[in-house]
Amino acid sequence: MPLRLNRCIAIMKRSSRIVAALAFILVFAVASFAQQPIRLHVDAAEAPRRIYHADLNIPASPGPMTLFYPKWIPGEHAPTGPITDLAGLKISAGGRPVEWKRDSVELFAFHINVPQGATSVDVKLDFLSNSDAAGFSSGASATSELAVVSWNQLLLYPQGKASDDVEIEAELHLPADWKFGTALPVGKKNGSNVQFKTVSLTTLVDSPVLAGRHFREIELSPGATPAHYLDVAADSEEALNGPPQLIEKYKKLIKEAQALFGATHYREYHFLLALSDQIAHFGLEHHESSDDQARENYLTDATSHLAGASLLPHEYVHSWNGKYRRPDGLATRNYEQPMKGDLLWVYEGLTEYLGWVLTARSGLLTAEQSRQSLALDAAMLDTRAGREWRSLADTAVAAQLLYDARPDWESARRSVDFYSEGMLIWLEADTLIRKQTQGRKSLDDFCRTFHGGPSGPPQVKPYTFDNLVESLNTVTPYDWKSFFESRVNKTGTNRAPLGGIEGGGYRLSYVAIPSEAERANDLIRQSTSVAFSIGLKLNPDGTIIDVLPEKAASKAGIGPGMKVVTVNDHKYSSDVLREGIRDAKLTGALDLLVANGKSSSTYKLNYREGEKHPVLERNAQPALLDDILKPLR
Ligand SMILES: [Zn+2]
Repeated sequence: MPLRLNRCIAIMKRSSRIVAALAFILVFAVASFAQQPIRLHVDAAEAPRRIYHADLNIPASPGPMTLFYPKWIPGEHAPTGPITDLAGLKISAGGRPVEWKRDSVELFAFHINVPQGATSVDVKLDFLSNSDAAGFSSGASATSELAVVSWNQLLLYPQGKASDDVEIEAELHLPADWKFGTALPVGKKNGSNVQFKTVSLTTLVDSPVLAGRHFREIELSPGATPAHYLDVAADSEEALNGPPQLIEKYKKLIKEAQALFGATHYREYHFLLALSDQIAHFGLEHHESSDDQARENYLTDATSHLAGASLLPHEYVHSWNGKYRRPDGLATRNYEQPMKGDLLWVYEGLTEYLGWVLTARSGLLTAEQSRQSLALDAAMLDTRAGREWRSLADTAVAAQLLYDARPDWESARRSVDFYSEGMLIWLEADTLIRKQTQGRKSLDDFCRTFHGGPSGPPQVKPYTFDNLVESLNTVTPYDWKSFFESRVNKTGTNRAPLGGIEGGGYRLSYVAIPSEAERANDLIRQSTSVAFSIGLKLNPDGTIIDVLPEKAASKAGIGPGMKVVTVNDHKYSSDVLREGIRDAKLTGALDLLVANGKSSSTYKLNYREGEKHPVLERNAQPALLDDILKPLR
């Protein structure tokens, strides 16, 4: 027995030594595997002719493996990874080709079999960059003078891994003499080659690079920590030169945002502003930067800037509202997991509201211009026929469809209304808090509670609807659940939630002359809106973009895609149409000859109210709306 015991102990000792040795080998192997980052080299030298080349080395072990092309793009809330533009895909291991097969259901996934003995696979791919100036980050974003490098378009990663757990070391080769800006930490630079520090896949995809021949870096908070930069690349040298007064307002934006939120959640922040008439125009938020794409004259032409003044404030707010605090359904673990947009009226709606507030507080728009732009949104929403059948909540859930929806019958379909209607609802919440607390508190206090906390590097704090309600209740006890649910889930009405405007001391009204903001919008969009009078939006040649179902043109039988040829027998132009609408007030006659394909007919509109353009007029209540727009600093 003792022997056996001794023997047993001996065996146990020996086996425990083996186990320990195996464990050590295993731990060492896992640790060394975990330490091996994906290596990515992107050649952007041919960006001006709209093709990128990428080489990846991805750690792997023998056997079946699936590589994934990022599909669900953060901030786009949709499966918009430009898979169609992935080309030249070649995979090898140790210099020998490895066959790949696309999954026949999940078309963004590529199956391979890693050969025996291999510790990594090499992937070569090209990205065919779009020249169509529409859409978001997969739209045109490269010209002869500049390029926005979105890393998600240039890589594959092992399917199933959390993007936080994948390490990646990226290197970028730029066209000669181009400069660049990015929030991605730089390791070393060597001529046109930039080596970045190893980061997680999350950080890489969240940190695009803006590069260009004409480039200017402007410090927006000199000497302060964290640092803020306005990195501008443009199609011409002149377009970089925004007037100093305008730059001062962007410096004020930083101060006002910090006063609003009370903390920052980034190491440094870069506005990556690309200015060109050849690229898609949009903003895409990131934690430590934003990809902001606008017209070439955005900084140098007052009208151009007026029409898009809230672009940078909106994207900047997202660093707090969207990136740091993120709805549960949008805080996905990688780019395969579908996103759920049910709280987009917070993610985008509150951002739209706070972006509007900060645009005014920083002086990028005057209070009057801010009211004009609010009036335009309110009027648009107040004529949405589609709210009869579709709730605001449904526009959020269906965001991934609606971003791509056509502009015709927009009023009947509804659009991504969770932006502007969300804004109206948050304005109402702000006025409510101010009233409930006799002016002692405001939505600013909620922002400091919900989005503040200690400053530091990026982190994500997901939230649910209940968390949001709880947090609002700490600012002002109120039935916030019913407040939001009754607005967000409502159908069967044609009226927008205008309680915030009214509680803010104004009412939506209509006048005969368009506001400065409306004129700027029409000019920049090169379209004519007589939406609030006869219910039409038209292209310069008279082609009808949209028809509002409740208005005179629609009631007369006119539809989208038709083309107005004459107005009261005068050849169509935007001015002639407006004149006809004004004259109808006296004559009662507004006859439109409208072509519909091969046929044409005269439509007699029953309309006598003249031109109608939205404005906000004071009502009898205190002007809380003016208080909201006043700077904090
Ligand atoms: Zn947004």
